[in-house]
Amino acid sequence: MAKTNVRVGGAQAAVTRRMSRESDKTRRARRCRLTAEAAPTSALAALALAAASACALAAAGIPLLSAATAAPAAGALKAPVRPPKAGKDGMEVFLLPPGYRNADGSFNQEAIVAQQKRRLDVINEKLGLKMRMTETPHYLVLCDADAATAAQFVRWSEALYASLCAQFGIDPKERVWDGKCMLLVFRSRAKFVEFARVFDSEHAADAGAFFAWEHYAAGEPECVHIAIPLDERDPKRLQELFAHEGTHAFFQLYRRPVELPLWLHEGLAEYMTVVNDPDLRGPKTAPAVAAARLMMPLDRLFKAVTGDDLKIQEYSIAFTLVDYLQQAGKTKFKQFVVLLKDGKDQDAALKAAYGFDTEGLARRWRAALAAENGPPKRR
Ligand SMILES: [Zn+2]
Repeated sequence: MAKTNVRVGGAQAAVTRRMSRESDKTRRARRCRLTAEAAPTSALAALALAAASACALAAAGIPLLSAATAAPAAGALKAPVRPPKAGKDGMEVFLLPPGYRNADGSFNQEAIVAQQKRRLDVINEKLGLKMRMTETPHYLVLCDADAATAAQFVRWSEALYASLCAQFGIDPKERVWDGKCMLLVFRSRAKFVEFARVFDSEHAADAGAFFAWEHYAAGEPECVHIAIPLDERDPKRLQELFAHEGTHAFFQLYRRPVELPLWLHEGLAEYMTVVNDPDLRGPKTAPAVAAARLMMPLDRLFKAVTGDDLKIQEYSIAFTLVDYLQQAGKTKFKQFVVLLKDGKDQDAALKAAYGFDTEGLARRWRAALAAENGPPKRR
């Protein structure tokens, strides 16, 4: 297989993705699914797919409030992923550009962004689209919908980034991903599916949205893109979808691309949808309160890994766990996440940041939610 101009030191590159799927619209279930699989052995030295994750959001058109009473999703998904056909027909724009590294070894972010911008024409040509691109400080927003819709996503993207930094005490100048996060918004679901197939070798027919982490090799730039179809027209729902996916993308690459525990990944994504829209707090808390009242054990959730299917109630529990930890302060929460990213296990990271382990967290969470569900306080 002919080598292209990719500079990956001979190592295989990889793209890891989480996908938002809406595979069962009739059940009205809000679900996220994460899957992973081993790296393929393709000779393509370009973007090989080492792992795939899928994460799912609600079926289109389903009112958010239904999440509180939605039937839990079941079953696991193992999405097959294959290397994209990079290295021909203009697909080299999905590889690192020749000048991506400066003489001093640092990454030339301008060169990486310039290469990302070249993707626009290739995507438009291959998919027969007329997407337009808007550049923001952290994102390249590609959209083929009307100008007002595109402007919404442009606004939401930087608002989410600022909100993530503010919520978690992260310096906005700290680089989370290399280049810019590419956000692709498709007017047509068919084109969204085609994009996933042509550029990410992914089956997205039942996906609500997805993000793909573009990993070339250890020590090389780490990039990310998000793809969202506009089959949901309610702006509040669209923003929720973007906030969920955008948060996954952010925390996948924050500091280093170390996978966070599934409950934390999903809890963070859900937490940010509530930051975005406080009206979601009630419906996203209720299932967890019910679980706490029933003394539901959290072992399954704490043990869940990428590829496991979470139930509606477990998303709610994940959200309230993150909410509980956040209430102890940004400093502790950030320390917890940083320790996990540095490779500490969950118990050790919790003890160092909070002074209690996973079991202690479960106990405290249950007490906090039971109190939240208590009788109305008397004045
Ligand atoms: Zn998710």
